[in-house]
Amino acid sequence: MPFRSKLPDVETTIFTVISRRAAEVGALNIGQGFPDFPIDPRLAQHVAAAMAEGRNQYAHGDGLPELRQAIAGKLARAHGIVADPVGGITVTCGGTEALFSAIQAVVHPGDEVIVFDPAYDAYEPAVRLAGGRCVRIPLQPPTFTIDFERVRESLSPRTRLLLLNNPHNPACVVHGRDVLDELARLLRDTEVLVLSDEVYEHCVFDGRAHASVLAHPELRERAFAVFSFGKTLHVTGWRVGCCVAGPALMAEFRKVHQFNTFSIATPLQLGIARYIEEDPSSWSGLADFFGRKRDRLTAGLAGSGLRVLQTQGTYFQLLDYSALSDLPDVEFADRLIREGGVALIPLSPFYRSRPRLQLLRICFAKREDTLDLAARRLREFAAGLAASPSAAPAGAQTPWATA
Ligand code: GLN
Repeated sequence: MPFRSKLPDVETTIFTVISRRAAEVGALNIGQGFPDFPIDPRLAQHVAAAMAEGRNQYAHGDGLPELRQAIAGKLARAHGIVADPVGGITVTCGGTEALFSAIQAVVHPGDEVIVFDPAYDAYEPAVRLAGGRCVRIPLQPPTFTIDFERVRESLSPRTRLLLLNNPHNPACVVHGRDVLDELARLLRDTEVLVLSDEVYEHCVFDGRAHASVLAHPELRERAFAVFSFGKTLHVTGWRVGCCVAGPALMAEFRKVHQFNTFSIATPLQLGIARYIEEDPSSWSGLADFFGRKRDRLTAGLAGSGLRVLQTQGTYFQLLDYSALSDLPDVEFADRLIREGGVALIPLSPFYRSRPRLQLLRICFAKREDTLDLAARRLREFAAGLAASPSAAPAGAQTPWATA
């Protein structure tokens, strides 16, 4: 039967593709972002207790009041943000649902959405399903700084939304208050909304502070912000996040959310709420915790020929392998999986016009032994390449080269 796809060119996400390849060949999967260490047992106990108490039926669609209250308290303590737990916070199925519902709520057919490349891969399909079009502004490595002149030129009467990701995955940079000020200035006389993906809010290093759009006096009124317990409590598989916005935007958000996921797993919400209530600063050590992992991985790669681009935020690190090979990143990543036994994420698939990059993203939300094993395998692989650079095949055939 003839059938017209709505997303004909969209393929399986690079994260799934790389994870599958890693599993096929038994490589160490340190590409896709998920912790491999256990969660706090008290968190698991709270969820188990909620189930045992019979809290197993639909939650309120906006989120359990206990959790929305806990989120409001957390935002206040962590970032000095005032958010209304009744009309300004909705619990979502992870950050991805929050992004999707926000985009569906505000993007009309024909609207334009400004997105910075490298762009997390969930953004563009959501915009297209809403009938919109992404205007993608490339950020150049290694600094990935925003070209504000380019942003100004990209604004048009059709621009509905600007999508920000801070800390930025996969560029691993952090936008400070100065960047938000500049964006606020550019948007001042427009009706452009801001959707800010802040799921790595607590993974900011070297004394940086997270600059949320919600803490910005001007941006706040036009912004949705997205947060994730998957990242904060090391439970990516639970799929619990939230969206925070002012009452008018949140009312529109909820119109979509209620028919998208309706409500989020009750015992997970209650368990998280009680856990936060018990330890109101459970996330406060995260920057140090992940910072030590970042530094351990960096030290493990010293002298390997892989250049580490110092991560400012997120739990990822970019590695520049240009001293070792001329292969494009997708092909290099495939060779590294097959011959080096390590699966990392190439950066170029996150750009619309794929530049020829020699950067791979590695996840350091891992146990120390995992980080050490990854570093050892990467050093050995790099040493092998340095010893016989001519052995690098000119573009091995990769089944997922277009993913
Ligand atoms: N957020 C994860 C990452 O950046 C990927 C999640 C997914 O696979 N969709 O690695």
